[in-house]
Amino acid sequence: MKFRHFIALTAQTLLAFAALAGSVASLVWLERQNAALTAPDLPRWDETAPLIIVDAGHGGHDGGAVANDIIEKNLALDLARRVKRELEASGLRVRTTRDTDVFLPLEDRAALAAKHQAAAFVSVHLNTDGAGSDAEGIETYFADSAPLSARQLASKPVSSADFAAAVQRMVCSTTKAQNRGTKARSYAVVAQAPCPAVLVECGFITSESESAQLKRESYRDQVAQGIAKGVALFLQAQPARPGLIATAVK
Ligand SMILES: [Zn+2]
Repeated sequence: MKFRHFIALTAQTLLAFAALAGSVASLVWLERQNAALTAPDLPRWDETAPLIIVDAGHGGHDGGAVANDIIEKNLALDLARRVKRELEASGLRVRTTRDTDVFLPLEDRAALAAKHQAAAFVSVHLNTDGAGSDAEGIETYFADSAPLSARQLASKPVSSADFAAAVQRMVCSTTKAQNRGTKARSYAVVAQAPCPAVLVECGFITSESESAQLKRESYRDQVAQGIAKGVALFLQAQPARPGLIATAVK
């Protein structure tokens, strides 16, 4: 090999490596941008943080739906516990309607929100498709007539529809599940809550693939993280509160 050829080959190899390194770097950058866009960090709160009610659907003699070896009440409780953990990690205060396998009337669940002057109420459920088709995805319900407290009305119109939109957006972002949108329906548990309230149907246990996903702990964490981020996003859209130390949605 002539020296000139050697130099040319070396230069070509170096250029190829540089191009490769460049595309790896831009892929990493793109990934970071996506992560920043779709997964804002939860804001930090101090001890005056708002209180959130997390409601695990069904319980006790009311098992909810059953399919693919999943009993809704058990999975709802597992998810609610994870949501609680995520919210508390960001400094929010949390009360759960039930932390064991007990039956609780719907009005008692909503009443807890009044008792604790909750800022928001989230009910966790799993969906079923009775028709035997393979429906999939996540949907969030809200009662459009949910009454607001005098304080909420005085500050800024906040609605359960906004709350549902924030939760639905974030939970679909963290799980990559099919986005079935938000829906207005006056389920008693959200209609009776005296604060913005949503009911999240976290996936179809009748779907073979989605029930398999829901059996994975890491997927259930993604669901919980999405719901918690939705709560944070919604609370951040409220007028400035003293309890919020710093906002972190970038
Ligand atoms: Zn249910």
